[in-house]
Amino acid sequence: IFAHVVRAPEDPILGVTVAYNKDPSPVKLNCGVGAYRTEDGKPLVLNVVRRAEQKLVNDMSRNKEYLPIVGLADFNKSSAKLIFGADSPVIQENRVTTVQCLSGTGSLRVGGEFLAKHYHQRTIYLPQPTWGNHPKVFTMAGLSIKPYRYYLPATRGLDFQGLLEDLGSAPSGAIVLLHACAHNPTGVDPSPQQWEQIRQLIRSKSLLPFFDSAYQGFASGSLDEDAQAVRMFAADGGELFVGQSYAKNMGLYAERVGALSIVCKTADVASKVESQLKLVIRPMYSSPPIHGASIVATILNDRDLYNDWTIELKGMADRIIRMRQQLFDALRARGTPGDWSHIIKQIGMFTFTGLNPEQVSFMTKEYHIYLTSDGRISMAGLNSKTVPHLADAIHAAVTR
Ligand code: PMP
Repeated sequence: IFAHVVRAPEDPILGVTVAYNKDPSPVKLNCGVGAYRTEDGKPLVLNVVRRAEQKLVNDMSRNKEYLPIVGLADFNKSSAKLIFGADSPVIQENRVTTVQCLSGTGSLRVGGEFLAKHYHQRTIYLPQPTWGNHPKVFTMAGLSIKPYRYYLPATRGLDFQGLLEDLGSAPSGAIVLLHACAHNPTGVDPSPQQWEQIRQLIRSKSLLPFFDSAYQGFASGSLDEDAQAVRMFAADGGELFVGQSYAKNMGLYAERVGALSIVCKTADVASKVESQLKLVIRPMYSSPPIHGASIVATILNDRDLYNDWTIELKGMADRIIRMRQQLFDALRARGTPGDWSHIIKQIGMFTFTGLNPEQVSFMTKEYHIYLTSDGRISMAGLNSKTVPHLADAIHAAVTR
């Protein structure tokens, strides 16, 4: 009865790893998926995560009972403090509801489903380009998607004029997806002054900001600095949504731990919104898993673990920045044609190289280097030993 089912294509991002795994070459290099690797090319479990897990295992009072629909209370409270700041009025005034979700993706999906059910505007504006899963997540949630200009290939920078024009002509009330920091895939973020202008435009048109915060701490190395855009919006008293992921900044990719926060005008509205979020979550997956959220709550609520976390996080961010410099230097040393300064200017895990799909497929075929066809390279997967091979491949691709 399923003979008519046609084979679906691989996911454009996760499919890169599938292809990489099939390649027997000893020099193969995976620059596709945004997962951190050590200088030895190994996945990293943070020391603070190991220590938190030890603490949890040794605590015999813990059990495996179901969590409430909205997840672990300690985790939710600490997640709100992490993104808004401990002394934020939205927390002090109980105007925010925070629910534990299945990592960043799950937070976006739950937020999207809530909006489709309870909000008068069904259109969400997505930056162009954006993370490949955004259009699918929000479409499946029942929203319709529209692009807004974000990136200007000619300058490899922000298309600020285009962004203001597109959001300026969006219908009143429309939802706007914003990357909180380290925009994926471009690595291009607005400056603080540009954020302020975006905020004024969004508020003056009563647009609804929905932040995707997947890289807090990974852009600048500072958790507070990377939350500035969100906090700017939270400070003005208006509504906002934010989805948080602990995949990257705590290296908890497979634990699927994240949070959705909805800032409302009053505590009463926030508690009603939370009651409706439960109705979204209950038929979807009933309640979230406990392990990852317990690790995060343990780290966020223990001063030593928290401090050590910020040091490890900065270590990861700094290593990525070093890889940017090494790749830039390697291309300069090869005399590769073009201005590659965007490699060191862009922010976060990725470099949006400007390589076209033909050049990417050449690099994969001839050099066994795997990346998404839009030319996005995950800097987190590189190390000093692999940078020269990548630079050789880029040089060959652009001088062919
Ligand atoms: N948003 C963005 C912009 C991302 O880059 C990612 C991860 N690649 C996510 C959300 C969600 O990741 P996760 O569901 O693993 O937290």
